[in-house]
Amino acid sequence: MKRGRILSGMRPTGRMHLGNYVGALENWVRHQNDGWDNLHMVADWHMLTTGYADTSRLQADIFDMVVDWLAAGLDPARSVIFVQSAVKEHAELHLLLSMLVSKARLERIPTLKEQIRDLNLDEQTISYGHLGYSVLQAADILLYKATHVPVGEDQVPHVELTRELARRFNFVYCRRRPEVFLEPDVQLTDFPRLRGIDGGRMSKSFGNTILLTDSPEKITEKIRQAYTDPKKLRATDPGRPEADASDGHGGCVVWEYHRKFNPAEAESIAARCRSGELACVPDKKHLAEVMTEALAPLRERREKWLANPDAVRDVIEDGNRRARAIATATMDEVRSAMGLQANRVGV
Ligand code: ATP
Ligand code: MG
Repeated sequence: MKRGRILSGMRPTGRMHLGNYVGALENWVRHQNDGWDNLHMVADWHMLTTGYADTSRLQADIFDMVVDWLAAGLDPARSVIFVQSAVKEHAELHLLLSMLVSKARLERIPTLKEQIRDLNLDEQTISYGHLGYSVLQAADILLYKATHVPVGEDQVPHVELTRELARRFNFVYCRRRPEVFLEPDVQLTDFPRLRGIDGGRMSKSFGNTILLTDSPEKITEKIRQAYTDPKKLRATDPGRPEADASDGHGGCVVWEYHRKFNPAEAESIAARCRSGELACVPDKKHLAEVMTEALAPLRERREKWLANPDAVRDVIEDGNRRARAIATATMDEVRSAMGLQANRVGV
């Protein structure tokens, strides 16, 4: 008996970094190993909302992302890994649900407002598809009757909309029959917001990432540039691992990484830094070694998969098949509830 079903995906927009790993992938793998039913979707149609004009790298990005997921520990025997556009039912349900929500409701979604602001978009020129991407997200979730959606705070409004659409559909079409959709619960993952090497939130848009694919040399080079206490100028100056708002010090990134990837030593390292005993240069070198070690299992798994690219494609094909089986069964119920079965014309 499974504990529940989670549906979670990502847009294929580049290689996975440590933020993606601690904020999402680790959590997926934990669910998979804790008896959940996992579905993980490569959200290629969602990528089009902002990236429709250049799809030249799309297939390579999909492949790379799935390899990163497998390297992180997703096991295709237990987790369904699939590509959204390979399951056309997403588009069909999106269209049907789009009748049940007003334009004004979509315009009020805070995540969309933020995106418009962050990407400097003009609200008047936002595409019809972009406006409706949260409806597509609702379709993604409802198709698989996911019981839980693991999300960060920022995504909660989308799950709210999903619940509303499930309720609305059941109310309009299922009054005299069993309800088709269940309302999924938000599962607030306390996503540790991992910072990038410059001290800001790690994000591929900010160029401050450490990638899961970075070589040991690359990791060493990036850690060497990582943000530390700006007041620790000489090796023997006492350092402040934690943030100090009084002078805008956001906290030492090297220590943040120690806590995450080297928890056993983190406290003693901080103590030696505070006393001026430990200098940044050797500390960073040590951290780079520890992180290289921590990422070694991922590197090994990646190499194993990359040695056989056809096996990766098979994982995706198999995942698509398994996803399709669930999605087509749900759409049969949807069409039947809505009276849309083409084979019953005139009956
Ligand atoms: P973009 O810059 O294109 O927004 P990104 O680097 O922020 O990319 P996303 O594709 O937005 O990455 O995020 C994918 C997943 O990784 C999401 O679940 C998100 O919450 C998580 N994530 C991204 N960055 C971080 C971070 N710095 N710390 C924790 N989780 C993160
Ligand atoms: Mg992001």
